[in-house]
Amino acid sequence: MLSFTLFIAVVAIFWYCFPRRIGRKVLVTSPMGETRYSLSQPSEFSVSGADGLTLTIQIENGRARVAHSDCPDRLCVHSGWLSQSGQAAVCVPAAVSVRIVGGEAAVDGVTA
Ligand SMILES: [Zn+2]
Repeated sequence: MLSFTLFIAVVAIFWYCFPRRIGRKVLVTSPMGETRYSLSQPSEFSVSGADGLTLTIQIENGRARVAHSDCPDRLCVHSGWLSQSGQAAVCVPAAVSVRIVGGEAAVDGVTA
């Protein structure tokens, strides 16, 4: 009976956790518009922000960060790795934000 209860508990944990782990994306908002990137595909790319500032975004192992930025304060770089849905790095001088959005809930109703 104890093992059965344990089994249900494990199933419940997977049921709640698994859907959040799949389909997560990183939403990059810049003066050029919004773009979503899959977190499951490692990549590194540049984003053009306001005032000629350029940010380098890095994605690996299901997480994303601002690896480099031309902005003066570097707050976006210091935000470090983002992996949980809702976490964000914002670069105010460049008007760029990098945010983790959770799969199915983040289709089109995103306002930021
Ligand atoms: Zn910045």
